[in-house]
Amino acid sequence: MRIKDYLSAKYERKKPTTMLGCEARAFGIPYPLKTGWLMTYGDIEITSDMAARLRKGLEASGKDTAVTGLEILDKAWLELKAAPDANSREFLQSKAWKRLRLQALNKHGRQCQCCGASPATGAVLNVDHILPRRLFPQLALQLDNLQVLCADCNEGKGNWDMTDARPATTAAESRK
Ligand SMILES: [Zn+2]
Repeated sequence: MRIKDYLSAKYERKKPTTMLGCEARAFGIPYPLKTGWLMTYGDIEITSDMAARLRKGLEASGKDTAVTGLEILDKAWLELKAAPDANSREFLQSKAWKRLRLQALNKHGRQCQCCGASPATGAVLNVDHILPRRLFPQLALQLDNLQVLCADCNEGKGNWDMTDARPATTAAESRK
């Protein structure tokens, strides 16, 4: 959920005009708000870190409007759990990732796209992020950013390496 959506839901306005100081702090927005803050910060996705800070701030603020914020946050929390932080340890355990991983295996077939090894020849297959999730968290749940590699090929590729091992046609198709 984006900052703007959280605030719109909370203040029941399409274009939110204000927020609490504790919300600004949780989102990392300078407070009091300056002109154009919505344009600059509105589209930022609320991460689970921000959500945790926000929860603390709202609970401590004791204002009436904080209660609404907490209700919205509770709903959004479920959403956030469904789409975990790309850099968290829980990412690889999340349903969203497991579902996508299976899609990648079905799409590319159960063999290494680099050397052709398959479970039939004793290989362990990994679904790899072509652009590493540490550097490109926004692509962590994009099917087009995944390739199937055997453990050996994957080990050779650290998370700074962005080699696309897919056949040129597959790679070109997914770039379309
Ligand atoms: Zn391989």
